[in-house]
Amino acid sequence: MPTFQSLGLEENFLQAISDMGFVTPSEVQEKTIPLLLEKETDLVSLAQTGTGKTAAFGFPMLQKIQAESRTTQGLILSPTRELCLQITNELKAYGKYVDGLNVVAIYGGASITDQAKKIKQGAQIIVATPGRMKDMIGRKMIDISRIEYCVLDEADEMLNMGFYEDITEILSHSPEDKSTWLFSATMPKEVANIARKFMHSPVEISIGTKNVGAENVSHEYYLVNARDRYLALKRLADANPDIFSVVFCRTKRDTQKVAEKLIEDGYNAAALHGDLSQNQRDLVMKSFRTRQIQMLVATDVAARGIDVDDITHVINYQLPDEIETYTHRSGRTGRAGKSGVSMVIISKSEFRKIKAIEKIIQKEFVSKDIPSGMEICERQLLHLASSIRETEVNHEIDMYLEGIEEVLADFSKEELIKKVFSVEFTRFYNYYKNSKDLNVAAGEPTAVDAGKGIRFFINLGGKDDFDWMTLKDFLRDLLQLGKDDLYKVDVMSSFSFFNVDEKHKDLVLDVFRSFKLNGRRISVEISKDGRRKGGGRPAKQGKKGKRNKPNWGEDRPVFKGKKRRKHQRPNDKGTGGKRRRR
Ligand code: ADP
Ligand code: MG
Repeated sequence: MPTFQSLGLEENFLQAISDMGFVTPSEVQEKTIPLLLEKETDLVSLAQTGTGKTAAFGFPMLQKIQAESRTTQGLILSPTRELCLQITNELKAYGKYVDGLNVVAIYGGASITDQAKKIKQGAQIIVATPGRMKDMIGRKMIDISRIEYCVLDEADEMLNMGFYEDITEILSHSPEDKSTWLFSATMPKEVANIARKFMHSPVEISIGTKNVGAENVSHEYYLVNARDRYLALKRLADANPDIFSVVFCRTKRDTQKVAEKLIEDGYNAAALHGDLSQNQRDLVMKSFRTRQIQMLVATDVAARGIDVDDITHVINYQLPDEIETYTHRSGRTGRAGKSGVSMVIISKSEFRKIKAIEKIIQKEFVSKDIPSGMEICERQLLHLASSIRETEVNHEIDMYLEGIEEVLADFSKEELIKKVFSVEFTRFYNYYKNSKDLNVAAGEPTAVDAGKGIRFFINLGGKDDFDWMTLKDFLRDLLQLGKDDLYKVDVMSSFSFFNVDEKHKDLVLDVFRSFKLNGRRISVEISKDGRRKGGGRPAKQGKKGKRNKPNWGEDRPVFKGKKRRKHQRPNDKGTGGKRRRR
């Protein structure tokens, strides 16, 4: 076991490390700290997020600079304001026993004159985002002509965000003979280019295999119809009652929409994206850190700053456009030695992306089924049982016990358990008892996907008290068809559509030649493109237009004991699954 003592750090840093509760150095720390302390060298270090890179460059830089001098000696560039502040705070904590140390954060969206003032007081180390840094150099507010160490942190993310030119400009104001330390989770061409351009024969350190996802993250995918994405997300959340997760969407709009739906459906959720003000984003992050939010729905850009340990699940509601981004997403979980799960909800057309991602992370995905409604009920019940077990008795109830006992005197322990659990169970059960299977079989495209099968129009719909499930059952019974013989049932208010294979076409036409329901003539017609034949129905009411509309599903109940957390007001019942909007 390596120790911090063996890395060559001075006593005051060892003290700070012990104050922070770090016991053993991480791999990147063990490899980097002695090397950087010993010699002046450029360095390229490949390591996933959460491997402790800040300390890996932070301690050597702190030990090597002269705190007595007011000259700026170290510059750390990092992609976002959040990361900038995190690094600054970490460095302050590492250097808490260093007299006169001044670490200053420079980032956009805050007063530039305040920042300039702090720099003037003498900052040995500046931690900056490229945009603001370039700006302040241009205005001669910052002088980096005498820096000795420059860190490019999360280099791949900085380049992703389009900071190449800013970085080039900034570095052109720094001395040639400084040491540059580059840290990155992945090594795309652009990062290699930067290394070539700005560094002199850097030492290369790679933690684990290049571009490999964090060791203790497992990767799962769930194959569903694109429009069932949201229902699938809810099931994944319901099946994991203690979930603490980041849900990634592709656009700001989807991010906002999914978060709003989740909140409406009773989850502790919030959105994080670039259209929020800095203030709003800070608030969201604060609630997430303190676990008041269990599901943080975020865009990739907004999530860049997230450094929260103990995230149990990363959920890819949609896959990112650039598959390289997947590594960043999944790296939000499985931090600091904990295990984590990265889940991907995909439709069939995206399946090949999974294969491409497997190549990048050099790990295989596990194909999983979206849990059935009954499985979820079971998991929720067991979760309730264990929370009851863990609950500390509140003795404020003692004075009411007599009354309660009187009411319940006739029941045995077994009967009581059944009743208590039924109180909570019934709501979930009612929601899920008729829930459909959301899974789509992998492999050969089905008749549906291939556009095969015959589509029928029928003049029965929601007005006749059908939903897709009851109509499907009704038709299957009537036609005596097997489970998979009738599909793509879409119910509108006064009419519906369904598909059967070609071979059942005549059967359907025969049965409905003279079929009446409650005295009313029920007619079916072969439909083209989700339109009623010759009926001129606008296509948008048919299947075509509806295809990609997400299925937001109905309201979902919430176990009373479940989503309510400590911070909630005691009178906030949480019944009906509604929670106060923040
Ligand atoms: P990275 O920059 O690689 O994503 P960070 O430097 O942000 O990782 O560290 C991730 C978390 O792990 C932080 O909360 C940090 O305080 C903690 N950490 C870093 N090094 C250690 C260590 N040796 N032991 C325990 N925790 C550590
Ligand atoms: Mg970092």
